[in-house]
Amino acid sequence: MARQFNAFAMAQAQFDGVAEKLGLDPGTREFLRWPRRELHFTVPIKRDNGSVEVFHGFRVQHNDARGPAKGGIRFHPDETIDTVRALATWMTWKTAVVDIPLGGGKGGVICDPRRMSEREQEQVCRGFVAQVARLVGPVQDVPAPDVMTNAQHMLWMMDEYEKITGGRFPGFITGKPVGVGGSLGRTEATGFGVVYCIREALKRMGKKVSECKASLQGFGNVSQYAAKKLAELGATVVAVSCWDDTDKKPYSFLKMDGVNVDQLMAISDKFGTIDKAKAVELGYKIAEADAWIEQDVEILVPAALENQVTEANAPKMKKSVKIIAEGANGPTTPEADKIIQERGIFMIPDFLCNAGGVTCSYFEQVQNNANFYWTRDEVLNRLDEKMTTGFHAVADLAEKRKVYMRDAAYMIAIDRVATACHLRGWV
Ligand code: NAD
Repeated sequence: MARQFNAFAMAQAQFDGVAEKLGLDPGTREFLRWPRRELHFTVPIKRDNGSVEVFHGFRVQHNDARGPAKGGIRFHPDETIDTVRALATWMTWKTAVVDIPLGGGKGGVICDPRRMSEREQEQVCRGFVAQVARLVGPVQDVPAPDVMTNAQHMLWMMDEYEKITGGRFPGFITGKPVGVGGSLGRTEATGFGVVYCIREALKRMGKKVSECKASLQGFGNVSQYAAKKLAELGATVVAVSCWDDTDKKPYSFLKMDGVNVDQLMAISDKFGTIDKAKAVELGYKIAEADAWIEQDVEILVPAALENQVTEANAPKMKKSVKIIAEGANGPTTPEADKIIQERGIFMIPDFLCNAGGVTCSYFEQVQNNANFYWTRDEVLNRLDEKMTTGFHAVADLAEKRKVYMRDAAYMIAIDRVATACHLRGWV
């Protein structure tokens, strides 16, 4: 039987390995292995058919030594407390590795918005905030969108918080619509940030993006904008993939002369599921789930969910693969990570690679606090600068210490967080 995947066990194992290399003292090590606090609660809603349904929700704050906790909220039927703990932990390392003054948190509700009306989703959003308002707020813990949550969900949540507190607090949550406290550039920030890292990695290899082919897993927010930016910089994106909720399995969509991202977005629903029949009409080949990883490309971007690149499919990667850019959080299992490391593929680890989203969220908070809004170019130029600086700091350390990129990113992040905890006198 396959081993049960536990994202939090994986996050702790990754941390333990680097804590050992860093020679971190036992007290700090034990402290940073666990979330500081977590809330478990229920969110009852009245369904459109009159019945009451009760959903389970969580908010986890892993660490807030460097600033308020920060991290998204997921709505997913398979959400678990351990996934939320892992994601909260990774947020701590993510904000630290790109050096923004925030900590790490995450939230989730076990529910399936694909099977809920707008009215029902609004009740979940408002019910979530009613439960977390005591622990979450602009100077304590700032949520954001994640898998299957969007700008509208964020606005309902902000509105509920403002109703409870009686003020205007746009900095309560990020990823809001533009015009109601949202930042220009937020939608594309994570995907673009992934590509800024890829561009810089290729520079270090003496290669150009325009000489490369890429294949991406997923076709949601991260994947769509990473694919768009890759194509804009001249790369050929030969494959994307998505979950098909009717067939209950994923498919890959292949086009060897390059997918047209706008065309695919036009035939996708808001959850990033591409219409298979329409894609076939447009000349796409539909292939099995793992086809995206088996392509003859230089760049692979897993940008769907955790636990996707495994010891079963990692050996299927072609020799041409030079870079894996982890758009998703925790997409690579430790067994697959070993295979990737042994093959000498350049890994851009998740909490560095996809830090564009939280960096832009931070810019959104800064704009909210100043009540002064930047242009899209200002946002994206600042984002590029932050991602590029963060990327090279990690790549330089990896070269200097001759360590894997994931370990180098952890070393920088853990050192910054541990230092903040020591300076505060926590451990
Ligand atoms: P999303 O919900 O917009 O899209 C997810 C995509 O993955 C959809 O196209 C879905 O069909 C596809 N998918 C789901 N299961 C799949 C499977 N088994 N095989 C292939 N495709 C599958 O989510 P998103 O916001 O793009 O987030 C994707 C990943 O990136 C998550 O791990 C998330 O935590 C991480 N992330 C997101 C952001 C952000 O700003 N959105 C920031 C940092 C990290």
